[in-house]
Amino acid sequence: MFIMKSKLKIGVIGSGIQGISNALFLQKKGFDVTIFDREEPGSPVASYGNAGHFSPYASLSLNRTDVLADVPAMLLSSTGPLALKWNYVPKMIPWFIKFILNTSKNKMMHTARNMHQILDLALPAYDELFNEINLEDLVENKGILYIWNDKDLKSRELEIQVREELGVKQQLVNKSEIHDLEPNIKPFYHAGVYYPYARHTKNPKKILLKFFELFLKKGGKFNKLNVQDINFVDERPILITEKQKYTFDKVVIACGAFSKKLTDNLGEKIPLDTERGYHVHFKNCDHLLQRPVIFSNRGFGITPMEQGLRVVGTVEFGGLNNSLSKSRIKNLINNAKYMLGDLPEHEDEWLGFRPTLPDFLPVMGPSKNYKNIFYCFGHHHLGWTLGPISGKIVSGMIANQNTNLNLEPYSSIRFN
Ligand SMILES: Cc1cc2nc3c(=O)[nH]c(=O)nc-3n(C[C@H](O)[C@H](O)[C@H](O)COP(=O)(O)OP(=O)(O)OC[C@H]3O[C@@H](n4cnc5c(N)ncnc54)[C@H](O)[C@@H]3O)c2cc1C
Repeated sequence: MFIMKSKLKIGVIGSGIQGISNALFLQKKGFDVTIFDREEPGSPVASYGNAGHFSPYASLSLNRTDVLADVPAMLLSSTGPLALKWNYVPKMIPWFIKFILNTSKNKMMHTARNMHQILDLALPAYDELFNEINLEDLVENKGILYIWNDKDLKSRELEIQVREELGVKQQLVNKSEIHDLEPNIKPFYHAGVYYPYARHTKNPKKILLKFFELFLKKGGKFNKLNVQDINFVDERPILITEKQKYTFDKVVIACGAFSKKLTDNLGEKIPLDTERGYHVHFKNCDHLLQRPVIFSNRGFGITPMEQGLRVVGTVEFGGLNNSLSKSRIKNLINNAKYMLGDLPEHEDEWLGFRPTLPDFLPVMGPSKNYKNIFYCFGHHHLGWTLGPISGKIVSGMIANQNTNLNLEPYSSIRFN
């Protein structure tokens, strides 16, 4: 008699871009998938409010000595990219120490090479998912432009040189080329770099919801529940929620910056923290820019979106519980006006949490202590770009498939 083997049951915690991408690639590999999230998909978490860049070129991260040397000046400047919530500084000292240790040339290049390995595969992995939804005109192929003035030119030279070494395609642009690309930007800039093959979305939330609909259509289940803890019976994980317990064959933790509570409970000391970032919208102004433009010196960018111009970025260290800083919102508004001149009253003040490890590599792979738990979090400034490729990699690990990639650098074991 033929007995049909039942599909393995996988629970995915988190419905941000990482959770949903994992769920979709797990379905492609034949698993029975249930997503858990304490919020509805598309709620205002990082995957909703980001700058919408698909940035396959962005291999060089912030763990660099030039960035470290600039920290005091950045903190003192009211127009600068960095801020602190002082009440959180003592809690973050161990993270800062690990970060400093990761800024050597060797460590910087280790991060850059291993980010490049996955970034290079990011757009094709998105296309695999885009092929299954009606994208309408939510994705634009107009490239992404970075501009800078003549301060910190050493940092710009380093970035250009590292990308060159890695084989990242980049087009250096002068003042007049920048003007041709974006004539509405005030001419404060000195030079820039343009990535014509980069893309942006006009609405990350709509893409997430389209992915989520696809997941449900393929038989996926969703529980709007907070996962409080994970227990085990015979190595099978049991998700503990405020209502009920759910048993799975395997579980993926994809809770972004909130993943640490669960990994701490599983007995692993993974130094995940958050780089807080902000956005505001200027409605009906999206015609002012053709594509996302990032002002490198000030660590923020502006993306033309359905909501208007989304002015987005900067980094604030302050943990998950501190409230939104009005001074950071003001910083974005002033910087946007510096770039574009007069703008109407802003709307939609938003604070989001980038999940960041001190070596600026994500954590992807099985947990150290429990073979049926997999991690997929910590994608810092690039989690939107890296959603589908990370889902493809982690689902491949769960299905015991060979990816032909060196996945060791992403393992949580590097912190033990
Ligand atoms: C200002 C800003 C701009 C950015 N711009 C870009 C960009 O242009 N390009 C790019 O590539 N990246 C960008 N990023 C980074 C990117 O947005 C994030 O790295 C990415 O969205 C993280 O996705 P995630 O799915 O890991 O986490 P999240 O989007 O935070 O989702 C985690 C989910 O887990 C749920 N959750 C948490 N804990 C639990 C629990 N215990 N039980 C149930 N559910 C739980 C949360 O409710 C949430 O829905 C930006 C980030 C910020 C803040």
